[in-house]
Amino acid sequence: MGVPAEPVAGADCKKHAREYGAKYYKHMIGHIFEWNSDLVNGRGRCAVRGGECSICGIAVATASGGLPCQPCTRQRQKTGNTQKTQSQEMHPGHDEVFEGFLDFLSEVGPAQWWAEEVMDFEPQLHEFAKCCTRAGYAVRAITVDQVDFVLVPRPRLIIAGFSHAAGHKAAADYFVKEMQEAIAFVRGQKAAAAVGVGGVVDTADPDEISRRAALQEQARVEDLARAPRHFSKWQVHSSKIRSDNGVPRSATPWSARSNVVMSGVPRTPRILDLVETTWAVAVAQSPTTIQTKQLKKGLWVGLNQDIKRQPITAAKRARGMPPVMTTGTMYYSFEADATISGKGNLQLAGHPSDRASRSFFSESKLRDLAGETFCAAYCSIVSFVMYCNPHGEWWRSGSGP
Ligand SMILES: [Zn+2]
Repeated sequence: MGVPAEPVAGADCKKHAREYGAKYYKHMIGHIFEWNSDLVNGRGRCAVRGGECSICGIAVATASGGLPCQPCTRQRQKTGNTQKTQSQEMHPGHDEVFEGFLDFLSEVGPAQWWAEEVMDFEPQLHEFAKCCTRAGYAVRAITVDQVDFVLVPRPRLIIAGFSHAAGHKAAADYFVKEMQEAIAFVRGQKAAAAVGVGGVVDTADPDEISRRAALQEQARVEDLARAPRHFSKWQVHSSKIRSDNGVPRSATPWSARSNVVMSGVPRTPRILDLVETTWAVAVAQSPTTIQTKQLKKGLWVGLNQDIKRQPITAAKRARGMPPVMTTGTMYYSFEADATISGKGNLQLAGHPSDRASRSFFSESKLRDLAGETFCAAYCSIVSFVMYCNPHGEWWRSGSGP
């Protein structure tokens, strides 16, 4: 976006992530350390230069990053998805997010910063913002879903802080307003594009409704006749979704088609059922006039997700969103009849296609990077809005980046 920034340093505890950064961004970023604590301490082993490096004494205008989300995941596992079961200080990983990040603010003192966090962090946001406020920052949080910019849904909290030197509250309010406008603008563009494509209509005619009711009844009867003694969880979910859409439980309409290969799809009963159910439901929910070719286009399924987490609705499709795409690292494309590669995954998040050479990075490492990657488009927009902040003394005096 033409922001004349000079990235000072970054950190990632994964070796292949450091290698990726050093390979493709060597000309842009000064240093890549192993640990966040290296950033706090201002020195550590550097993947760009291959030895010990120091960044002590360098003024940081804008810091960005993802607060570690694993503490939140562990906390959810431990507390059963509620924050009420124990005090926040008792949560495993509390220190990593709260103390580690606050150390960074007090030691490095960036003029302004932004961080991405999972939505599960929301109950702790107030406490987190209070700590940052005590450290001298005006803090705001907004929800951004990268599906507004790329194909893959991924709602996240974007938390931003502004020191007095960066304009404090005026800058924080500017940030929220500009981000909301940017998102509204992109949504408007997408809606206009969807209208331009046209043709996706929800079905509601009476004949269609009675035809589906008959199919539902048939599916229910068939289910009763075949019901085994014990269902696993995914089978229960699948049965319910199939029955709601008038699809017999045993139907395998996708693999019954000629020349279906399902390249790269692991042949486990759960995953095969996920593919079949997704296709069957997509057919059941589509207007009878829609062509198979048209239906396949843009239809995906995340194979490492449970069927229950696949939001398959005609309404979502009408909004121009891929109906079944959720966060994950293994997507099957019905159109391509194959799983998407790690490189393809990175491209779906908006990363340039020339940044993932298979001769340097294995398929599993690329997938892993894709699973943790920031969406390039919204990252750029947040950075751009931060760069345009007109409220800081550091900026107006020319002492910024
Ligand atoms: Zn270095």
